Formats: sequence, C-alpha cells, structure tokens
Amino acid sequence: MKDTFRHKGLRQILVDKIRKKGISNESVLNMINEIPRHLFLDNAFVQFAYQDKPFPIGAGQTISQPYTVAFQTQLLELNPYEKVLEVGTGSGYQAAVLIGMEANVYTIERQKELFQKTKEFLPELGYNCNFYYGDGYKGLEQFAPFDKIIVTCGAPTIPEDLIQQLKVGGRMVAPIGEGDVQVMKLIEKISETETKITTHGKFSFVPMLNDKTNGN
Ligand code: SAH
Repeated sequence: MKDTFRHKGLRQILVDKIRKKGISNESVLNMINEIPRHLFLDNAFVQFAYQDKPFPIGAGQTISQPYTVAFQTQLLELNPYEKVLEVGTGSGYQAAVLIGMEANVYTIERQKELFQKTKEFLPELGYNCNFYYGDGYKGLEQFAPFDKIIVTCGAPTIPEDLIQQLKVGGRMVAPIGEGDVQVMKLIEKISETETKITTHGKFSFVPMLNDKTNGN
C-alpha cells in the first residue's frame, strides 16, 4: 500500500486537530504529519487511520489514539539521541514517532504475535530500533539506565523496576490506574531516591498484563 496525496492531506487535517487540542511541540506534530499511520492498520480499516481514535490491531490490542501518542511524547521532552524505553510495542506507531525524533528506542511487547509482526514491519518502513519480547513491567535491566521511559498500557501502580531503570534527571510517562480509565502520570527522577510525580489528565488504555513469556 502506498502513501498518497490523499493520505498526506488527511494527516494534515489530523495535525490541525491535535494542535487545537493543545499539542504545541512542533517536532511531535511533524511526526504525526510524516508517519503514514494507515500502514499500521489492517487493509480493511485504512479509512479509519486518520481519525483521532484508537483502533484494534489484533491480539485484543489497540493502536493508541494519535492525540494520546502526541500528548505522551510531548510530556517526555525528548532530546535527540536519548535512550528511550517503550513498554507496549503494539503496532509500532508510537515507536516510529520516537525514532523519527532521533531517539535510541528499546521497545518491549508481551504478545508474541505483535512482537514478531512489528519487529519485521517497522524496519521495512525505515524505522529501526531494538525489539524485545518480554514483560515490560520489569523493564530491560540489562540496558538501563534510560533517559526516558514511556508506558503505553495502563499499569495498576507505577512499576518500581522502571523507576530504578530511569536516569537521575530522567522522565517517565505512564497511564496509571485499574479499570477503563487511567491518570497520566509524569515521574521525574530527582535523585537516586527521590521522584516528583505530577498528573496530566485522564486517558483510556488497554491494561498492562502480567508476564506471558512463561506461556499463560
Ligand atoms: N505503543 C503501541 C500501543 C499498543 S497498546 C502503539 O503505538 O501501537 C499497548 C500494548 O501494550 C499492547 O500491544 C499490549 O500487548 C502491550 N502490553 C500489555 N502488557 C504488557 C507488558 N506487561 N509488557 C509489555 N507489553 C505489554
């Protein structure tokens, strides 16, 4: 499937919408404008790609709403070449936004099917990063510390292991809460033992699930 002028036009409208909703970081808006989101959805759903809505991507999971992707990315305050951990690879769309902003991305997914699909698909589009199959709740200790951490599924509580894997001065953005609605939290690591936590509105994510690598 190609990226056509029609798709580009639809993306421009989406960018305007997201800007009006309060996203002001131009690098983030550029990424929404650049990345062909329709290629991240199954063929049958392409007409939905540029609505500002989440969408099913298989294995009971969803690609996040573009506004939510932009909101979380803006909160990260990303600088080029920073090392970023993403929990919940899913379709790879959020990872593409981070990679496009020149981050050095490590992404982890617990659904094998999605892990395998996205690991092949994203490099085909020219977006390269490090893909891992495992439990994002535990992070990737072997590659820590990270400058930034972004969690793209709803965690019941702030994962302690992830705070450990954040650099001092680093930022973690994570939707926290059980049930259908989570509160977006920004965790800034002030020192090895101190964090500053602020809340940034309500969102709705698929739940963060327990380890699946043991076959359950
Ligand atoms: N960032 C994705 C959003 C996908 S939805 C995108 O841009 O498309 C959230 C994803 O988190 C799902 O793919 C789900 O399988 C995954 N997930 C849920 N619990 C997880 C866990 N414990 N570790 C890693 N990934 C997890």
